[in-house]
Amino acid sequence: GRTLGVFTSGGDSQGMNATVRAIVRMGLYLGCKVYLIHEGYQGMIDGEKNFQLGSWASVSGIVGLGGTIIGSARCPEFRERSGRLKAARNLAKAGINNLVCIGGDGTLTGADLFKKEWNSLLDELLEKNEITKDEYEKNKYLNIVGIVGSIDNDFCGTDMTIGTSSALHRIIEAIDAIVTTAFSHQRCFVMEVMGRHCGYLALAAGLASEADWIFIPEHPPEPDWENILCKRLQYHRLAGHRLNIVIVAEGAIDNQGNPITSEYVKKVISSRLKIDTRITILGHVQRGGATSAYDRVLGARLGSEAVLALMMSHNESPPFVIGINGNQPCYIPLVEAVERTKAVAKAMAAFEFKKAIELRGASFER
Ligand code: ADP
Repeated sequence: GRTLGVFTSGGDSQGMNATVRAIVRMGLYLGCKVYLIHEGYQGMIDGEKNFQLGSWASVSGIVGLGGTIIGSARCPEFRERSGRLKAARNLAKAGINNLVCIGGDGTLTGADLFKKEWNSLLDELLEKNEITKDEYEKNKYLNIVGIVGSIDNDFCGTDMTIGTSSALHRIIEAIDAIVTTAFSHQRCFVMEVMGRHCGYLALAAGLASEADWIFIPEHPPEPDWENILCKRLQYHRLAGHRLNIVIVAEGAIDNQGNPITSEYVKKVISSRLKIDTRITILGHVQRGGATSAYDRVLGARLGSEAVLALMMSHNESPPFVIGINGNQPCYIPLVEAVERTKAVAKAMAAFEFKKAIELRGASFER
């Protein structure tokens, strides 16, 4: 059987462990050797001590744990060829030439580059006698597949990224808790949620929590939003509501592109309406804690599919991302998906919101 390595990299998200578990077990089931590579690309560069041979039991009891038990890292060294050379040496020494990369677009960009360079890296290592002719021959081809772990749901080509559902549950739990205390004191709460340039978490949380108002980056409010917002909140109060919930995505902007901060929203509401207004910034609790059932199942499905994809890979295979489309696992060309995801960020920055949303929603030839 083949030798696989799995690692998690970039920002962590719930469901990464469920994914790792599925990869290890599907790999073992198919007769592969599976290495858990600890600490992402940094672990690859630092070498052997970070390579743990996975067993059936080594991934037991983790399916619901948030974070990633094999650690994640941001690794500037991997951006340099010299760093990638070290990583290639360590992988070749361990005989790992099939990789499942779990991370965001940065991680996948790095993986693509690594695959493109692989042959020249091995050539250099052989020349310098860092690897033997035998190690060179056995690891001549590098196969990679990617899986997107991110709470932001900001990746093109997949309906859901792993972690989004859990983060959403966490947000809703927090809002439900806030609602009870807001009710008692007739307060307004401005809740700030994550998502970077993507408003998905704020939008879905708004729908799921009966929020009065949401601010998302894809839809800057009208120039006179302050008036409209205050009227809306006031109207709700007149209708008998004892509280207000306003959700602000961390990337929210006004129609000039300036950030709309929760601090500013609070100031507008409290100064104009004289309502007792508080801010709750959820921060990293959104990235932690228990994994939702959906993310556990998603991790299991995409993780096992990734191993199957590697089993079918050969030297000519382009790198794939395993995503979910219409509730079916799908293979998306990695380079295109990463490029389109970057194009979305660019369109957002250029105020081309319609284009950004179209790009995000469009599907790929598979
Ligand atoms: P994410 O994967 O969540 O987007 P980052 O952007 O921090 O997170 O990327 C994670 C890691 O991937 C980086 O620390 C770096 O080691 C590697 N990486 C990111 N971009 C590149 C790149 N262009 N070339 C090589 N490696 C990269």
